[in-house]
Amino acid sequence: MVDISVDEAKCVGCGTCVDTCPSSVYELNDGKSVVVNADDCVECCACVEACPEGAISHSSC
Ligand code: SF4
Ligand code: SF4
Repeated sequence: MVDISVDEAKCVGCGTCVDTCPSSVYELNDGKSVVVNADDCVECCACVEACPEGAISHSSC
């Protein structure tokens, strides 16, 4: 099982991770990205590479 976390202090709520993730792992909630579906992660690392703030930590990336 992967471990994914979003640093709320760094996240600016741009939605890039929501739009980039092929498995709908993220949702925006109150202007921050939240991990809602980590079980469907395919470990492509697109979210980590796409986040402009470096806010995402991923155990496989
Ligand atoms: S891409 Fe990064 S800054 Fe943008 S919503 Fe996702 S975690 Fe937040
Ligand atoms: S590694 Fe890929 S599948 Fe997993 S959360 Fe990031 S973008 Fe989504």
